[in-house]
Formats: sequence, C-alpha cells, structure tokens
Amino acid sequence: MTVTVVTGGSRGIGAATARRLAAAGHDLAIGYRRDHDAAAAVLADVHAAGRRGVAVPADTTDPAQVARLFDAAADLGALTGLVNNAGVTSPIGPFTELRPDDLRAVVDVNLIGYVLCAQQAARRMSHGGAIVNVSSAAATLGSPGEYIHYAAVKAATDTLTVGLAKELAPHGIRVNAVAPGIIRTDIHARSGVPDRAERAAGRIPLGRAGEPDEVAAAIAFLLGGDSSYTTGAVLRISGGL
Ligand code: NAP
Repeated sequence: MTVTVVTGGSRGIGAATARRLAAAGHDLAIGYRRDHDAAAAVLADVHAAGRRGVAVPADTTDPAQVARLFDAAADLGALTGLVNNAGVTSPIGPFTELRPDDLRAVVDVNLIGYVLCAQQAARRMSHGGAIVNVSSAAATLGSPGEYIHYAAVKAATDTLTVGLAKELAPHGIRVNAVAPGIIRTDIHARSGVPDRAERAAGRIPLGRAGEPDEVAAAIAFLLGGDSSYTTGAVLRISGGL
C-alpha cells in the first residue's frame, strides 16, 4: 500500500502531482493553506480515480499543523511518500527593494516548512519510503532582478536533499528533488507578473514554459520503484534553462 503526503496539493504542481499519483495507485493526504475549493476539487479527482484521500488545511510553517497533516495521513495507513511542494515566491523586483517580511515568508515556507515536513516523514516511514523535494532551476540560475532570496532558499533545498538522502539511506528512505524551470501556474501572478511564463518562452531552449503535469511525471518517477537506486539526485525539468 502506498500512502503519500503532498503539501501544497490544492493548486499548480502539487495538484497535478496528486492527480497523477492517484492514477498510479497512491492514497493521498493533500495539504494546503487556504484554497478550500481547489483542494476539494483535487480530492474529488483522487476519489474518482478509486483511491482514498484526505484534504487537510495545514500551514507548513507551523509544526502543530504539520503534525496534524501527517496524523491525517496515518489514518490512511503507514506513510510511504512525501512530496515537499508547498512554496511561495514574493513580488518580483530588484534585490534592493526586497522587504524583510517577504524574505522571512520565503524562508519560512520554502525552507522551514520543508524541514518540518521531512522530519515528520523521516520519523514515520518505519518501513522505508521516498521523499521528493520540489526545488527550482532558480537554485543554479540565481534569479537576478527577480528574487535572489528565493533562488538562495531553493539552493538550500538541494543541499537538504543531499544531506537527507545520505542520513536516511540506512533507513530505506530515498530523498530526491526536482528542479522545475518556468512552469505555468498561479505562482507568477502572485509574484506580480501573471504572464511571466509567456514572456519567458523566448529564452527557454525548448521554446515554451512547462506544464505542471510535466513536473508531476518526474515526481511520480522519483517516488516509485523505477527509481529504486536513485537518491540524492536533483532532476532538472526546465526545458533546457
Ligand atoms: P502555486 O500554483 O502558487 O501553488 C502553491 C501551493 O502551495 C498551493 O497549493 C498553496 O495552497 C500551497 N501553499 C503555499 N504556502 C503554503 C503554506 N505556508 N502551507 C501550506 N501550503 C501552502 O505554486 P506552484 O507553481 O505549483 O509551486 C509549487 C512548488 O514548485 C513551489 O515550491 C515552487 O517554489 C516550485 N516551483 C515552481 C515553479 C513555477 O514556475 N511554477 C518553478 C520552480 C519551482 P493554497 O492553494 O491553499 O494557497
């Protein structure tokens, strides 16, 4: 039996991942922050695929809410998977204009949230499992003029992946990351540039932004048995960026 937690599973890459994993036979605990209707729609699709699931409002920056999300997953069975996906950017702009509150929010959700969720998963995967951290191609590009602090935190995600892979390997837990480039989701509107994906197409070698399901496919691979000898890897899904 496969029980997987997907954080930020209500929209974007997380929603596509939840749908794809349900089709691949996973039961799912879907975490989200505030978009109840979007989470309910994903959960309905999980049920339509014949899998069990729960949608749990859980802010990943809050240890108590994270524990509640993993408790809800435990009601489905022993935990075997975690997709650490819930993430935020902040308004696109020059580094000198970055506001401390936006910096703290990016660190809180994208780093502290990932660590809290990975810790819960590591404690609960008593018979082994797999964790996939959603990083970003920004980690190696640096995102100048956009959000350098976000890129730096995504680089921390890659390091977290490498360290966790080594520490958890003896427990039968594989840890990998995906590093998406520019993917068509709401995240860009929330950064103040809704058409960022269209605008970026010209500088992406494959000539277009990616779709959430193209990232979900890689996540499903890294969670599944076909990647049984892969741990500590960061798989770039960026159209060549
Ligand atoms: P998105 O469409 O904005 O969706 C973000 C998801 O995260 C939503 O489900 C949201 O929940 C949830 N979320 C945000 N903050 C949360 C918190 N504190 N606690 C719990 N859930 C929270 O974003 P996306 O584009 O799919 O991004 C998903 C991941 O991919 C992020 O880690 C992002 O950094 C990474 N990424 C994205 C791109 C891209 O171009 N889209 C590229 C590289 C990496 P609500 O719906 O309830 O708000």
